[in-house]
Amino acid sequence: MKVLLLGSGGREHALAWKLAASPLLTKLYAAPGNPGIAQQAELVALDISNHVAVAGFCRDMKIDLVVVGPEAPLVAGIADDLRAAGIRMFGPSKAAARLEGSKGFTKDLCARFDIPTAAYGRFDNLAAARAYVEKVGAPIVIKADGLAAGKGVTVAMTLAEALDGLNACFDGSFGSAGAEVVVEEFLTGEEASFFCLCDGTTALPFGTAQDHKRVGDGDIGPNTGGMGAYSPAPVMTPEIIERTMREIIEPTMRGMAELGSPFAGVLFAGLMIDENGPKLIEYNTRFGDPECQVLMMRLKDDLLVLLNAAADGQLSHMSVRWRDEAALTVVMAAQGYPGAPEKGSVIRGIDGERGDGTQIFHAGTAINAGALVANGGRVLNVTATGATVGEAQRQAYAAVDRIDWPQGFCRRDIGWRAVEREAGR
Ligand code: AMP
Repeated sequence: MKVLLLGSGGREHALAWKLAASPLLTKLYAAPGNPGIAQQAELVALDISNHVAVAGFCRDMKIDLVVVGPEAPLVAGIADDLRAAGIRMFGPSKAAARLEGSKGFTKDLCARFDIPTAAYGRFDNLAAARAYVEKVGAPIVIKADGLAAGKGVTVAMTLAEALDGLNACFDGSFGSAGAEVVVEEFLTGEEASFFCLCDGTTALPFGTAQDHKRVGDGDIGPNTGGMGAYSPAPVMTPEIIERTMREIIEPTMRGMAELGSPFAGVLFAGLMIDENGPKLIEYNTRFGDPECQVLMMRLKDDLLVLLNAAADGQLSHMSVRWRDEAALTVVMAAQGYPGAPEKGSVIRGIDGERGDGTQIFHAGTAINAGALVANGGRVLNVTATGATVGEAQRQAYAAVDRIDWPQGFCRRDIGWRAVEREAGR
C-alpha cells in the first residue's frame, strides 16, 4: 500500500515509525513532515490546507490511504474533500469533527444523549455569559467554543479570573473561536485520556494515557501542548474503561449516527474520574500529541491493518493487542517555550542506533547547513518502555541525558503520579 501521512510533529513521527513497520506498506509519503519523519517517509512539499492539491497528489501517486495527524485539516473538511475525490481516508468528516471543533456542539450532544459531563451554559454575548458566571460563582471554567490551539480554556478559581476569561473570548483574543463561549461547572478528580478507533458504527478501545500540560515540575506554570505522557493510565481500570464505553463512547457513536454525522477516525476522550465514575471533559478527533507516541510504542498489532479496517467500516471484526510494558515520553522543548521559543540551536547526540529500546521522535526540528536544529517549541519526544512506569521513566531520562543540546529543557518528573502509585505512596 502507498500511504500519505499529513502533519509535521512528534505525533506524526510516531505514526510514521509504526506505519513503516507494516508489511503491507510499500511506500510512505508525508506532508510536510520533518527530518525525523524523513527516516521513514518521502517528504512532500504540499500545503495541507489546500485540499485540491492534496487530492491531486493522491491521484497522481495512486495513494491507497490518507492518514491525518492534526485536527485543523479535519475540522476544515479534508476528509470530505478527499472522499469526494474518490480517495480512501482515515479520519472524521467535517460534521463529525465538530466533536473537537465546537465545544458547545459536544455539550449539547451530551445533554441530548445523557452522557455524563460538567453542567454548562452556551453564550454568544458577554452580558448573558457574565450574568451566568456571577450567578454560579467560582471555581468555574470558561471555554472558547472553537479551536484555539489549546489556549481557549480558563480554569478560574476566582470570579475575577472567570470574568477575565470571558473578556478574552469576547474581545477577539481567540479570533472567531471565541465568538461563542461554553461556561462549565468545575470538576475535580483525576484526569485521563482514552482513545478509540472508530469506523462510523464500531468504537474499538485503543489505549489509555495521562499527560502533563503544565511547563514546570510539580504541574505548575503556564499550560503547554503537553510536556510528557505515559501509558497505560493506572486510573483507567477495566471497570472504568467498561463504564466509559457504555456511558460515554457508545452513546456518542449512536448520537452522531442519529444526527447524520457518523464518527470515523480517532475519538480521544479527555476524562475526569472521581468516586462516581468517568465524566467527559472534552473530545478530540485525532491522536493526542504526545499521547500518540506512547501508544505507538505499546501497540503490538499492525497499525496499517487497523486503520484499513476503520476506513472500510470493518472494526467490529478487529481486536487490539498491547505490549505488557508501560511507555513514557519526555518532551524536550526549546528555551522560551511556551512563550517565544528560541529557534536554530544545534542538537547533537541523537543519531544512530541506541539499542536500548528508546525512540526519539522529532516534533520541531529542521536541518540547517547539514546540522539538526530546533525549529519550534516542542522539539524532541524521548520515548522509552519498561516493566513499570518507573522503569520507563528511568530509561527515558537516561536517553535525555545522552542528548547534547544545552538550549533545550524538559520536566524531570514526567509520570510522577503513576510512579508514586507504583511505590505504594
Ligand atoms: P480542554 O481543552 O477542554 O481539555 O481543557 C484543558 C484543561 O482544562 C483540561 O485538561 C482540564 O485540566 C481543565 N478543565 C477543562 N474543563 C474542566 C472542568 N469542567 N473542570 C475542571 N477542569 C477542567
